[in-house]
Amino acid sequence: SKRRGRGCATAFEGAMMREQRHQRFIERELRAAILLDELELHYQPLVDGAGRTLGVEALVRWRHPLRGMIPPNDFVPIAEQSTLIDMLGEWVLRRAARDAAALPAGIVNVNISGAQLRRDALVATVTSVFAETGCPAERFAFEITEGVALAATPAVLQRLQALRDLGARVMLDDFGSGNCGFATLRSLPVDGIKIDRSYIQALESDPVAGIIVSAVAAIGRECDLEIVAEGIETEAHFTLAKAAGCMTFQGYRFGRPAPLREGPAVPAQETRARLRA
Ligand code: C2E
Ligand code: MG
Ligand code: MG
Ligand code: MG
Repeated sequence: SKRRGRGCATAFEGAMMREQRHQRFIERELRAAILLDELELHYQPLVDGAGRTLGVEALVRWRHPLRGMIPPNDFVPIAEQSTLIDMLGEWVLRRAARDAAALPAGIVNVNISGAQLRRDALVATVTSVFAETGCPAERFAFEITEGVALAATPAVLQRLQALRDLGARVMLDDFGSGNCGFATLRSLPVDGIKIDRSYIQALESDPVAGIIVSAVAAIGRECDLEIVAEGIETEAHFTLAKAAGCMTFQGYRFGRPAPLREGPAVPAQETRARLRA
């Protein structure tokens, strides 16, 4: 009936308002959290086929005084809907660059959001953060998601290339989780591909996953792209991902994300040279 329809609309509007209220609440709290220094970067190792650490991925955490540790999926998407992502992104960039400059070797991977790549000022910001922290661009890799790759405008592609021209690497994250096809891949200025953990974790049970991962690894070898296997949790994942031709590995098998002080072993100088070679 008309009445019930209106009831539904009201319930829907109610849910929308709650959602908006929640969003505004997170925005306000997050802004304060950045200023009060309640954000942290945790680092997870990336290793070679022998298990030696090549670098780390920086993963942001929010240590809320009342709610405890809040994972990035609970606040990064909300930040992305406002200019807060610029503040968050710059905080992450600066902290990661400072940490990278303090580590003797290894590459620090940083996740960068599509919203950041849409800003004209991004490359200038990155350049000044490197200068300010003394972090060489070569110690940095930017991870972009498939969604960003798919929606990349010429300006975004240009910025990615500009980051590479500085000396940093660009990696395509979570490859296979979305709709990134070969046409997109071909036009992307990237140095490597991180294969989504759903493929790696299916290697044991699904022969097609093995065929796909092997094919991506073959493309990587041909096109000189670093192929990273994400989500290595077990010895079997590691063995199968290696057999499929992946070059770099990341997952709980080698270490969970942790604060730097208790964090992953710092890679040796010679390992870094090998990665760069
Ligand atoms: P991501 O970049 O794909 O990061 C990998 C995620 O997988 C991390 O979750 C990590 O803790 C988790 N992971 C690592 N190894 C394993 C494993 O063996 N098994 C399983 N099940 N999971 C594993 P986390 O830290 O919750 O981050 C989630 C996502 O949030 C990230 O996915 C990234 O897209 C985003 N994110 C994190 N930090 C930042 C940041 O500083 N800026 C932006 N824009 N996004 C970020
Ligand atoms: Mg990532
Ligand atoms: Mg990933
Ligand atoms: Mg992911």
